[in-house]
This record gives sequence, structure tokens and C-alpha cells, in this order.
Amino acid sequence: MAKPILFSGIQPSERLHVGNYFGALEHFAALQESGKFDCLFCVVDLHSITESFDPKEKKEQILAVAADFLAAGLDPARSVIFQQSQVAAHSELAWILNTITPIGELERMTQYKDKAARQKENVNVGLFDYPVLMAADILLYRAAAVPVGDDQLQHIELARTLARKFNNRFGKTFIEPKGLLARTPRIMSLKDPAKKMSKSQPEGCLFLDDDADAVRAKIARAVTDSGSEVAYDPDHRPGLANLLDLYAAVDPDRREPKTIAKLFAGKQYADFKRGLAEAVARRFEPYRKAKAELARHPERITAMLAEGSAKANRMAAETMHDVKEKLGLAV
Ligand code: ADP
Repeated sequence: MAKPILFSGIQPSERLHVGNYFGALEHFAALQESGKFDCLFCVVDLHSITESFDPKEKKEQILAVAADFLAAGLDPARSVIFQQSQVAAHSELAWILNTITPIGELERMTQYKDKAARQKENVNVGLFDYPVLMAADILLYRAAAVPVGDDQLQHIELARTLARKFNNRFGKTFIEPKGLLARTPRIMSLKDPAKKMSKSQPEGCLFLDDDADAVRAKIARAVTDSGSEVAYDPDHRPGLANLLDLYAAVDPDRREPKTIAKLFAGKQYADFKRGLAEAVARRFEPYRKAKAELARHPERITAMLAEGSAKANRMAAETMHDVKEKLGLAV
């Protein structure tokens, strides 16, 4: 029997950071390795143009995210790795789903409200319609599982609602997808432990391609709480707890943050930060090397995306055929 389909995507915008790695990339690779799913991983470039961008940088950003996928262990021989805009059916299905989406459902989306507040000069219809395009991305492949961060669960809920609505009205066509959350807690900003690490605030980010010196400098400057003893106390010492969470995430032995804190008992914050910086730099060294090697051959990445997109197009065509039959558009 065919395996259930898994779909996820990352926008090509700024560089990816360690939050993206533990919240998304590492999870994607583990799901691919589990062998339980037929996986599709997409560079969702059409989503990325809903926010301000420079067309001169876009191609490089698309290739960089594809390289991030590969460096994280996603394998084009086992997973379909592709570019959203090379599969026109994403936009086509989004349009069709628009016709069954109540405006009120989109108006209450938290991410839309946040982004609209952040880019007041560019509150475009695409930003508003983003969750419908995301529903199309998922439903197009009849994906059952979608690894996401918790900030995306509201969008997954919409995809489920639209699948149900379409099926009820036109006959069983789509699968209702489920979101899969990563195990690692949210990595918070190095500058403000109350905010998540986010590309929109680059000053608080530890980027995946930061070299060892940059990692040391950023961690040395990371905000911690007053106090001197290294202890894991997320409620009262969130800055330190975030660094301990990060240490646990990069630790090859996968020890708990509390266990890591004990290793530094009796030591200063500065000793702990030095240890953390080395652990982070060591953990991402193979990643940075793999990415640098990939960057030397952009044509290979372009070819891989074209091949993945061709496969995705074939899968998408089957669904669109069915959708058009159901809607009475097939003449
Ligand atoms: P950003 O907020 O940096 O723009 P995106 O919204 O593009 O990140 O998220 C891409 C993926 O990375 C999503 O699956 C998201 O849940 C995950 N992610 C983003 N930031 C973090 C973080 N700080 N900690 C854990 N996961 C994160």
C-alpha cells in the first residue's frame, strides 16, 4: 500500500537560523528517515513575495533554501524537493479554494494580523490570501501530514476546513491534513528571550551559516538574567533557559537542559557561554561545509529543483483533473 504523503515548505527570504533548523529542517529530515511517509519538501517562493523583497535577490534565496534542505539531510532520491512557482497548480487550486473560503476565516488569522501590522505600507491581497495558498500547497498532494511550527496550526486548521467543505459540496476529493509539531521547544531571540528567534529580527538570530567566530561573538553578547549560577529556570531566568534549550538541542548526546546546567555547576555564565558557543559551532560545522560545497555548484541545485518540480507537477495534475471533474469544469 502507498504510504501517506507528507508535505512541508520553507519560504526563501532571509537566511535560515537555528530556530528554523530545530523547528523545521531537523524535523523534516527525521520524518524522511522514519520511512513512514512519501515526502515532498517545497521552496515556497510564491508565499515569499507577499512580503517586501528585492527581485535581484530572489533567485539566490531560492537556491539557498534548496541547499539548506540538502545540507540538513533531505535527499532528492527519496523525497520530492521542488519549487512552488514551477508547479502552476498551486496557484490554480488556491483560486478554486478562494471560492469556498469565507473572508471572515482569513480576517481572524493571527499571522496575517501580525504581518499586516508590521508592513503597513504593503498590506496586499496576497498576504491576506496566504493561508488559502498554503491550503492549496497541502491539499494538492493529498498530504496527510504537515510538519509545522505551532504558529502554523491555525493555517492547518483552515486547510482541514476547506478540505471538508470541498468534499461535502463536490464529493470526496481531499484528505484532511494533520500538523506535526517538532520536539524541540521554540528557540527564542538572543537579544530578547520573550520573543522567538525570527528572521524579521536578524539581530537576535544565530544563522546556520554563521562561522565559529560569529557564533562565539553572538553567544557572548546574548542576553542573560542577573544571577551567577547556571541553573535551568524558564520562569525566572528565561534568557539562560533559552541558551540551555539551545545547548540541549545541539548536544550530540541529547541531554536535557537540566542535566547540561549541572555540568556547569559552580562555573560562571561566561564559562557556560563559551561551552555553548563551541557546541553550536561544532554541531553546524558539517552543515556549513556541505552548504559551501553545494554553493560551488548552483547548476546542480537548479537541476534538482527542475526534476523535483516535474515529479510534483505529475502528482498535482492528477488532483487537478479530479478537482475539475468535480466542479464540472472538465468539458
Ligand atoms: P521566521 O519567523 O524566522 O521568519 P518562518 O516563519 O519562515 O521563520 O518559519 C520557518 C519554519 O521554522 C517554520 O516551521 C517555523 O515554525 C520554524 N521556526 C521559525 N522560528 C522558529 C524558532 N524561533 N524556534 C523554532 N522553530 C522556528
